[in-house]
Amino acid sequence: MTYPNVQLHVNGEWRAARSGKTINVLNPANEEVIGTVAHAEKADLDEALAAAEKGFAIWKKVSAYERSKLMRKAADLVRARADDIARLMTLEQGKPLGESKAEIMAAADIIDWFAEEARRAYGRVVPARAEGIYQLVVKEPVGPVAAFTPWNFPINQVVRKLSAAVATGCSIIVKAPEETPASPAELIRAFIDAGLPAGVANLVYGVPAELSSYLIAHPIIRKVTFTGSTPVGKQLAALAGQHMKRVTMELGGHAPAIVFNDADLDLAAKTLAFAKFRNAGQVCVSPTRFLVQEELYDGFVEKFVAHAKTLKVGDGMAADTTMGPLAHDRRVPWVEMMVQDAQAKGGKLHTGGKRIGNKGYFYEPTVMTDVPKDARAMNEEPFGPMAMISRFKDLDEVVEEANRLPYGLASYAFTRSAKTANAVAARVESGMMTINHLGLALPEVPFGGIKDSGYGSEGGLEAIEAYLNTKFVSQAGL
Ligand code: NAD
Repeated sequence: MTYPNVQLHVNGEWRAARSGKTINVLNPANEEVIGTVAHAEKADLDEALAAAEKGFAIWKKVSAYERSKLMRKAADLVRARADDIARLMTLEQGKPLGESKAEIMAAADIIDWFAEEARRAYGRVVPARAEGIYQLVVKEPVGPVAAFTPWNFPINQVVRKLSAAVATGCSIIVKAPEETPASPAELIRAFIDAGLPAGVANLVYGVPAELSSYLIAHPIIRKVTFTGSTPVGKQLAALAGQHMKRVTMELGGHAPAIVFNDADLDLAAKTLAFAKFRNAGQVCVSPTRFLVQEELYDGFVEKFVAHAKTLKVGDGMAADTTMGPLAHDRRVPWVEMMVQDAQAKGGKLHTGGKRIGNKGYFYEPTVMTDVPKDARAMNEEPFGPMAMISRFKDLDEVVEEANRLPYGLASYAFTRSAKTANAVAARVESGMMTINHLGLALPEVPFGGIKDSGYGSEGGLEAIEAYLNTKFVSQAGL
């Protein structure tokens, strides 16, 4: 499959923008233009909104059983097409082909899970105070959804929103990432090819701020869901609040990864280094502040650095690449600034710290220690292949550091003590914690943050609930 000129999908039709405008798509491994994506404007959005309204009217009447059958077919199509879609994803996003394939297979799994779970969107009967009265709690789809998704996981960020919407009987307009448009378009195509009626799932790209301000404020839209940075999330949540729209926000994080003296050192270093450099660190749940208790500190630094040095950075299409380029031109200057600032403030560089070459957005896997708390990278998301390791003395100190920032998305801990595991899980302020392994982001478990990392969940029962209204009906027999 050659890289396409990506189109919009509006009201059951794949088409160019009405204006004919397009945006170039680059391969981050060589900065060459590989295709274009249609640039939607108001006329396209008005059509998408009308389609979503019509699509909702049709889709909400389809039984959960039939919706589920169609979604399973879409999941099978995604699996059957995974190799072709993975190529597109790696060309536009840069991640190694194996990571692209894994993301796509996980997406099929997510579609299947939502397809099944929405069949169990039960209401309940509340016992009444008088005979002959039935008090019913029923669940109804919230209505047309506007979804805004980023470029780091071009399919994963869409599939959770799309699957929850379609499974519950909502319609959706997806504003997918302009940097990585082709693979999410293939996800939508799988649903369309599986038989989704026109208007239920619509796909647009354009100038993010223009599209989001128009869609969120529009009366047809009943729910807003966004994954991206905290500053943008706050703006969109404010706008949604002004228009009283239901909201799910998956925002930035700055995950603490805590390694206690009694941890399995090899396991902790290997597991956390893998988690850090996956997708070149462009992951909202990426471990960022590595907090290691004194006795294991030196050994951890040594093993972590050794792992970073084994990574083979290169074009994601090459078979031996284990870390690809950063995804777009804004990332390299950002990571460079973060590393230089940390060094200027006294941080010690153990490996990495430089851009690789001058073509393609490659940056070395970077490990630093002794980075002071006022360095920018200790407070803002590096969102790149940069790890900072610090030492701590005791539980109180490490909990204070873990909770120092306004973020609260993911957290990691390694310990052999059940007592320490319980204490750290109870005291660290984060939406998710994984202890002694990487256990986040399966479809059946909650996925979401607290504090400045957002609200709502994109996994587990909570992810279904986010697309449903609760209606109460009290009925007396005549
Ligand atoms: P950015 O803040 O400009 O954009 C982040 C995402 O939000 C992009 O997908 C962008 O298209 C979208 N966006 C921006 N303004 C928008 C608006 N007004 N309306 C709707 N969507 C809008 O920055 P960036 O350079 O693309 O990414 C950098 C930062 O974004 C990272 O440091 C990270 O904090 C955050 N980010 C988070 C995730 C995540 O998974 N939570 C994913 C990608 C980026």
